[in-house]
Formats: sequence, C-alpha cells, structure tokens
Amino acid sequence: MAEDRRPFTVRAMFLLAALLTFQLEKISDGVYAAIRTNAPGLGADATSVFIINDDDVVVVDTTGSLAGAREELAALRKLTSKPVRTVINTHWHFDHVTGNQIYRDAFPNAEIISSSATRADMAAKGASSRADMAKSLPQFISDLKGFLDKKQNFTGEAINDEERASYESDVAQAEGVVAEAKDVRVTLPTTTFDESMTLHRGARTIELLRLGRGHTSGDIVVWLPDEKIAITGDLVVWPVPLMGSDQSYIGDWSASLEKLRALQPRTIIPGHGHVMHDDAYVATLIRLTRSLQEQAAAAVARGETLDVARKSVKLDEFRDAIAGDDRLLRFIFRVYVANAGFAAAYRGAQAF
Ligand SMILES: [Zn+2]
Ligand SMILES: [Zn+2]
Repeated sequence: MAEDRRPFTVRAMFLLAALLTFQLEKISDGVYAAIRTNAPGLGADATSVFIINDDDVVVVDTTGSLAGAREELAALRKLTSKPVRTVINTHWHFDHVTGNQIYRDAFPNAEIISSSATRADMAAKGASSRADMAKSLPQFISDLKGFLDKKQNFTGEAINDEERASYESDVAQAEGVVAEAKDVRVTLPTTTFDESMTLHRGARTIELLRLGRGHTSGDIVVWLPDEKIAITGDLVVWPVPLMGSDQSYIGDWSASLEKLRALQPRTIIPGHGHVMHDDAYVATLIRLTRSLQEQAAAAVARGETLDVARKSVKLDEFRDAIAGDDRLLRFIFRVYVANAGFAAAYRGAQAF
C-alpha cells in the first residue's frame, strides 16, 4: 500500500470521558509523529513515532492508554500494511509504555527494546506504580471536579479557560487510567542494551543512544542519523519539563542534553509537545538543569535542609522563559520544576 502523504488529524475517543485528539504529523519520508493535542496539565499523554521502513515498522513509545494505542495503531494501518516488528520504549513511565500490549497482541513476534535500566524499573515498579495510581486517582478526579464545579483553580482564584481545559483533560486521562486498570498487563521489553544499539531496517538506520540519566535513570534517545531526527522521550518535554523528585537525575541531565545537542539534530520530537526545528528550547533546559544543580549543591554545602534551601531558590529567569505570564504554565512549572526538580537536585547533591 502506498503511503498516504496527506497530513490528517485523527480524533481519538478516550473511553467515554471526553474527546481528545492526536495530530499525526509527517516528519520525513516514512516518519510520522502522533502528537497528543490535549491541553497541558499535571497529566499529559505522550507522543508516539512511527518509522516505516522498506519491510517493516518501528514504533517508538506506545502512549498511556490501551484506547489511545488502539487508535494510533488504526492510524498506522491507514499509512501502511507493513508489520510492526519493533517497539522501542524511551523510558518506563506509563504514558510511554501502556500500549506495549496492544502491539504485542497485534504482532506477537514484535520485539520490545529499551535500556537495561528501563526494563529493570518497569519490572520493579511498573505494576506497583499502576496500582498506586488506580488507588489515588479517584481522589484526584473528585478534587479536580470540585474545582471545576466551584469555578476555581488550585490556588482558589477564579478559573480561566485554559485552566478549565487543563483540568478537564486531566480528569479524562485519569478516568481512562482507572477504567482500564484491570485490563493493563505490564508488558516488559524483550531486548535491552546498556550504551547503544543500531537497527538496520532496509535502507533505514536507527540508533538507540543512552546519552545519560536525566528524566529517569534509563532514558534513551532514538536517533535517525541520515534524517538527523532525534526522538528524545522525556529528556525534552514541552511546554514545561517534567521532573520527578525521586526519579530524575538533575545533575546528569544537562550533560545528557549537551550530547543531544552535539548530534546537531535538524528535528527534535520531544516526549510531549510539538516538534522543534532548532535547539533553542534544549539550550534553555540545559541552563535550567545546570542552575538547579548548582543551587542545590550550594545549599547542601551550606548545610541547609531541603525546606530551608527551597526558600532561596531563584528560578524566575527560567519560569519566565518557559511559562511567560501564563498562570497555568507557571503552576505546572512550580509543581514539576521548582518543587519536584529542586528536590531531585537536592537529593542528587547530597549523594554526591
Ligand atoms: Zn511522559
Ligand atoms: Zn516520563
């Protein structure tokens, strides 16, 4: 079947909760990114990438819901009838791996590849983190619905349109996770590597590079050297970087991003958010992660506790560059960068 070159938007039904959409964007010959278009929020679904080769398809990341993966697979089927022989997981988080089982069921011989650290994390924490989510999300959903009913945001101000869309999107995603919980099987990678791996698929070369820790311990970047396309997982997330207090490695993150920049990508497909054609945002993330690390190291050297250290952290320059005066984005920045990111940097500086 010939490739369909028309760009098109697929409307994906996210269970019964709401209509979310993803945009299937053609990046290069045979390379398509399924970019989620739901509003940014505390939750957000991840981008998947289809790499259609001479005889087969490689899929990078499989979204955070079975329904989403089914919809994406249906969209892939409109592009090509070639089989999916390889699935790559950039890291272990549920929003990138939940659909693994959909591809496994449709293509029983498909190989699932990740770094060794990602497979170890998925094996150790995949099931328990899902169980924790299923337990805690009903409260999160009812809190969000409460704010929507009261027409208030999290900090008690009158809710604006962007915040309403964000909360509704978070509710839809969370309800989807709860509704699917009983059907999800943690589907582990079948092949792992430590530093790098190269796939030769017909005329296509696909490099899997572990540039270093950052968002998680096992992050990899998928690099197409001929097309100069970098698929970064959550080492790069737009509009606000996602940092986890107990699982991100802020001290290593900037070096990993420097290596990404040294590849001189022509196109960057981040784990969430729109495709980039220059490295300006990556440069901002490098300066941000370095600043977090330096401020945390200085606080630890002064003998400050995390709570004391927080009071003197200065991130205004980065908050303004990333969130501008957008109230929702400033809130997300506070949650994921100023709070979680600084805690991760402090933990790393203590261990140093
Ligand atoms: Zn993600
Ligand atoms: Zn992630």
